[in-house]
Formats: sequence, structure tokens, C-alpha cells
Amino acid sequence: MGDILALVAARDADRRRRLEAALRATFPDDAESNSNEIAFVRAPGRVNLMGDHTDYNDGFVLPIAIELDTWIATRRRRDRSVRIASLQSAEVAAFQIDDLEAGSGRSGGGIALENAASERLPGPRWTDYVAGTAWSLREGGLPIGGFDGVVDSTVPLGVGLASSAALELASAVALLAGERRVAAPHLAALAQRAEREYVGAECGLVDQFASAAGRAGRAILLDCRSLESRTVAMPEGLRVVICDAGVPRARLSSSLAERRAECGRAVALLAEREPSIASLRDVDLATLRRHRHALPEKLARRAEHVITENLRVRAVAVALALGDLHALGRIFAASHESLRTQFEASVPALDAMVTIATSVPGVVAARMTGPGFGGCTVNLVRDGAVSALARAVATEYPRRTGLVARLYEVAPVDGAGPLGGH
Ligand code: ADP
Ligand code: MG
Repeated sequence: MGDILALVAARDADRRRRLEAALRATFPDDAESNSNEIAFVRAPGRVNLMGDHTDYNDGFVLPIAIELDTWIATRRRRDRSVRIASLQSAEVAAFQIDDLEAGSGRSGGGIALENAASERLPGPRWTDYVAGTAWSLREGGLPIGGFDGVVDSTVPLGVGLASSAALELASAVALLAGERRVAAPHLAALAQRAEREYVGAECGLVDQFASAAGRAGRAILLDCRSLESRTVAMPEGLRVVICDAGVPRARLSSSLAERRAECGRAVALLAEREPSIASLRDVDLATLRRHRHALPEKLARRAEHVITENLRVRAVAVALALGDLHALGRIFAASHESLRTQFEASVPALDAMVTIATSVPGVVAARMTGPGFGGCTVNLVRDGAVSALARAVATEYPRRTGLVARLYEVAPVDGAGPLGGH
């Protein structure tokens, strides 16, 4: 144990040194630098233990914040401008906080870009997540200030472990510079607004909430309608292992938009029969059964997934609290099956990964996690069985799929904040 702690400390110190050197090299002190002092902030990625495609249906989710995280080395500025670089991208941006406007996302007004490389990361410009957070916090009336910063993330980008939310929350902490404590749910909502209204990416709240409000050793049960949450201790002796299935997710945003629209159509048809229904959260299985004939078969399956998945979130919270590993296995299996057949959000590679994992003794539970169409699986594994899982995946997975997976063992950690110590 002592050895592991020493290794982690050495790795963290090395990461600080690299980031500090990058900051000094990319943004040398100038007249507006507030001081020579460099501070560090961090925000974690997340994995969802249960509850997929429930968040935008006003339902329940059960994420944990994970050790994979995003750091920013920052130095304050006096002039309310932000200059930002990332070790994961060649693109550097500079903007004035007070010039930012919604819809200027996709790097329109007021943002000066350097190295706007043609081989840049796919999707929105990464710097818009930072600018959008500044815009959203400013609109929310929070006391923010400018900084020079360099970002470094151990959250793999774009595989469903919420690197975008981690970047937003780390940016938020940097912008606030520890000036005031802002409640985590409020900060999460502002970060979500940045991603939806400034970056222009449709997203639920689960990523930002977990990154902001994570708790070491605990999962977060969040009601996406009321935004009430409580934490649940993870059972002793159980590890969380994420398998990134290495599937390209080219069609993710169009598939997601299609599923959202299908859920919306199901709600509209059900509301014609029962006007009190405002979202799938308001529908139980008995109600669905009563009106199933009124729904096209596909929409009925989509609704059934969301309804049963909401039940599974609360069942997993209970099973974790009781340490009922057998129940966890059953509920995870049912969730994967529902995502595969009812919601059609899985792909054969994720199915193969789950099949391989569940055949390994000591793997208690396995399912796809996140929106699907690629991405990751999440596994609950007994102490001591992690290396057996890693071996099985390393040999079986490429053979069955032709793909290479990456495994991450993660423990639940605290949410975003300044990085203490030196
Ligand atoms: P996910 O949140 O699942 O990782 P998203 O597509 O929502 O996937 O967000 C990934 C995007 O976030 C990247 O393409 C990039 O624009 C941005 N991003 C996140 N972290 C970083 C980083 N450390 N450096 C540069 N860009 C980042
Ligand atoms: Mg994201």
C-alpha cells in the first residue's frame, strides 16, 4: 500500500512539473500576469454504473467520478482574458471573457485561435468547452477572472467517460480561482448549459453532475428531474473496471438524436391517452401495458427500456448498500440486454466484451455504459480478479472482434476542485 501511494505521488509530481513547464513555455509572463504563481485545478471523468438513456427522460442515474481526470495549470491574469492550451491538442485559444456571446461557439466571435490545425480533433473545437464555461459562469453572475492555462487529461477523449464535462468543470474551478464556494449541483448545471448552448452539443446532466459532485468511495444516485441526489457507499472488496471497446463512434450524435426523438414521440402518444404524462419518468410498466397498442412497436420498446432502467438504478443502489453481489450481476445483465434489444444502443463489440467479462470467475457484473453505439463497458470485479479479466480481454477480445480494448481500473473519487499540496 505504501509503495502504491509513493508511486501515485511521484506520478502526480511529474504531471505537475510537465504542466508547469508547458505553461511557462506556452504563455511567458506578460504585463497582465497577476503573479508568477502557478496553481492547479482538477476535475474527474465519470462512469455510469446504471441508468443509461434515462437522464434526458427525467429519470435516475448512478454514476461515479473516476480517477481519470483533467488538470489545468493556471496563472491568474488581471485583464479578464483567458489564454488556453492543451497537452492533447496543438490548438491554442485566447478570448476576452466579456466578449463571449452564445452562438459564438464553434469559434466565432472574439476567439483568436493559433495552430487551427487541419488534423484537429473531430467535433466541436476543444477550446469552445472552455470559452463556453466562461460564458455560462459569467451569465450566471459568478465572480470569475482571467487566467493563462494548460490542460492535461488522463480521461480518454470521446469514448464516453466525460472528458468534455471534466474539461468544463476544471475550467470552471480555474475561472473561479477559489474565490467562493459554489454548490456542486449549480456548477454542474452551468457547465451543462455551456455544452448545450455555447458548444452546441446536446447532453444530459449526468456527466457534469458526477464530475462536480463526486465523492471518494461512493456512487451518486441522482434524480435528473428534481436534481436531488444522495451517495451510496461502494461495497468493500469490489473494484470497478472500465473496458474501452475501441469502437469508432462515427454515428453517435445522429443515433443519439434519433433515440431522443423516439422517446419524445412515445411521450407525445402516451400523453394523448393520459395528459399527466410529461416524460417517460411519469410512465410505469402497467401504464405502458395499458397503452402499448397505441404505440408503434419500436417506440414501445424504447419506452420499456427507460422505464425498466429507472427501476434498475434504484435496485442497484439498494444492492450496493446491501453488498448483494448476486443481485448486482443480475441487474447489470438485464440492463445490457435491455439496451441491446429494446433500446438498440449496443453494438456487437460491446456484446462480445460483456460475454467475455462475465465468463471470468470473480467478475460480478458487466454491462455497456454510456450512450452506446461504441464506447465502454463497466464491470464490477472482486479484489484479485482484475488481472484475470485483463488477461481474458487481451486474448479473447481481439480474436472475436478484430479490435483492441483498453482497460482502466478506477476507484470513485471526489469531484472537481483545486489540487492541494505541492
Ligand atoms: P466524452 O465527453 O465522452 O469524452 P465528447 O465528445 O463529449 O466525449 O467530448 C470530447 C471532446 O472534448 C474532445 O473532442 C475535445 O474537443 C474536448 N476535450 C476534452 N478534454 C480535452 C483535453 N484535455 N484537451 C483538448 N480537448 C479536450
Ligand atoms: Mg462529453
